[in-house]
Amino acid sequence: IADSIAAQVMGYLKKNKNAVRVDALGSLRRQVSTIGDIDITVATNKPKDVVDYFLKYPHQKLVEQGPSGATLLLTNGRQVDLRVQKPQSYGAMLQYFTGGKNHNIKLREFALDKGLSLSEHGIKTVKTGKMKEVSTEEAFYKELGLSYIPPELREDKGEIEASRSGNLPELVQIPDIKGDLHVHSDYNLEPSHDLGVDSVADLFTKAKELGYEYIGFADHNPSIANHSENRIIEIMKRRKAYYEQHKSSRVHYVLLCEVDILPDGKLALPKEAFSYVDAVIVSIHSAFNQNRKTVTDRIIRALENHPKVRIFGHPTGRLLVGREGVDADWEKVFAVCKKRDIALEINAHPNRLDLPDSLIFDAVKYGLKFCINTDTHEISGMDYMRYGVSVARRGWAKKSDIVNTLGYNNFKEWLL
Ligand SMILES: [Zn+2]
Ligand SMILES: [Zn+2]
Repeated sequence: IADSIAAQVMGYLKKNKNAVRVDALGSLRRQVSTIGDIDITVATNKPKDVVDYFLKYPHQKLVEQGPSGATLLLTNGRQVDLRVQKPQSYGAMLQYFTGGKNHNIKLREFALDKGLSLSEHGIKTVKTGKMKEVSTEEAFYKELGLSYIPPELREDKGEIEASRSGNLPELVQIPDIKGDLHVHSDYNLEPSHDLGVDSVADLFTKAKELGYEYIGFADHNPSIANHSENRIIEIMKRRKAYYEQHKSSRVHYVLLCEVDILPDGKLALPKEAFSYVDAVIVSIHSAFNQNRKTVTDRIIRALENHPKVRIFGHPTGRLLVGREGVDADWEKVFAVCKKRDIALEINAHPNRLDLPDSLIFDAVKYGLKFCINTDTHEISGMDYMRYGVSVARRGWAKKSDIVNTLGYNNFKEWLL
């Protein structure tokens, strides 16, 4: 994925002694979910040295080269665009090429009203032609009378107005996250679909490494095609005992279950089996193409099925490559989540990123809560949390909007 390719190239550039700073630009820096070309900038007093060094990076083809940058086509087919700028003007460069387009258009109009013109070189007073160089973006926005606008917000969704009036949200950050509530272990409860591959013990260790206070095991429900109701209840009972035996003294756990929302909105877990979980995540894993009314009624029925339904997993069901999400009436779904205090999942898996940022933005306005989860099936998946946090930030979510920023006791209080 673009993110890790960019990290490799940026790591390479940082090794050059003439590179004062290295940053991503464009959609990558704004953490947009799908990224095409990779744009990178370097602050340097020796632009030629840095460009020459960049050209030694393993590549398929040199696409373009100039005094202030170059473009390479990498062997993996990705195009990487490098721009260099002197440190005194680096803030202007960063701001200008981070975009987004509509943010910059609005910002340029805003500046023109003040008699200023913006470019990657700095801020020019139109009347006198005098150019003010700015080394940081903070200084750039400050020159315009604005507080710093984080890149994730630069989409012209009211961020310039909010910055001006001091009302920018304090966005959630990775260290705010206290637990991951959607983790599949290798405990075999004969599920409807994929089992995790790693042990409960290893997952606890990973949670500890990540500094979490708690982890939520959310294995898929036992297959309803292969088992009777009584058998499912038995499996769930046995599972509860298993986790109890394998608990850790270092990290708390909550026992969840990711339960399929069946096509008619019923849940694939018998009522009696709910006694053996703390709460459930409900998710759609089939029949994605239902019409709007059917899928909306289906979701609502599922959310209202049981008081232990606390999280709505990967709500749209989209896959970034290959599947559009369900076409639900989100206003109606949001109303039910609000009434029942159900959290919408922000699924951090890079193939999902679901809810999408635009729906998070709407849901934040609606006053809903979110839970950012990785949906881990193997241990390295727990590192994807940062992608979920990025999407949440693009949706203007604050720490207080996210239930898994709560400490363990407060989280339990919310959950139960
Ligand atoms: Zn799922
Ligand atoms: Zn899952």
